Amino acid sequence: MVHDLYQEIILDHSKRPRNCRTMEDANRHAEGYNPLCGDKLKLFVKMEGDLVKDASFVGSGCAISTASASLMTESLKGRTRQQALELLEKFHELLTTDTPVSQDLGKLMVFCGVRDYPARVKCATLAWHTLKSALSGPGEHGPAETVTTE
Ligand code: ZN
Repeated sequence: MVHDLYQEIILDHSKRPRNCRTMEDANRHAEGYNPLCGDKLKLFVKMEGDLVKDASFVGSGCAISTASASLMTESLKGRTRQQALELLEKFHELLTTDTPVSQDLGKLMVFCGVRDYPARVKCATLAWHTLKSALSGPGEHGPAETVTTE
């Protein structure tokens, strides 16, 4: 029952991804590529001091990777850099371990079913790997980095 609802949310976000646009005034960006599935995405983040003001992405990928990027960008706004990295850790735990689902994840917990499909884990984490690179890369006018999930 619950998993049907989760699947619906993932499907909805993959069909109508939120924040799917380029961002002219982003001051952080990175590109991600998952060769196992062919998912590609370009992430834009606008930081104001330590705060994530806005996040968006463009790309082409499977339903899981698109929904993950959509829900991630939605979840990031208003968080500090540190909080964003903590969320990343929790999301990674959700997908790769058997630990109980953390309530802090909010809507992101819809991806808990993906842990049963190891081949899809990289699809779900692609956006997050890319985020890590965007947040840790050079600031303002630095070059975009490309992350490959291998
Ligand atoms: Zn994929």
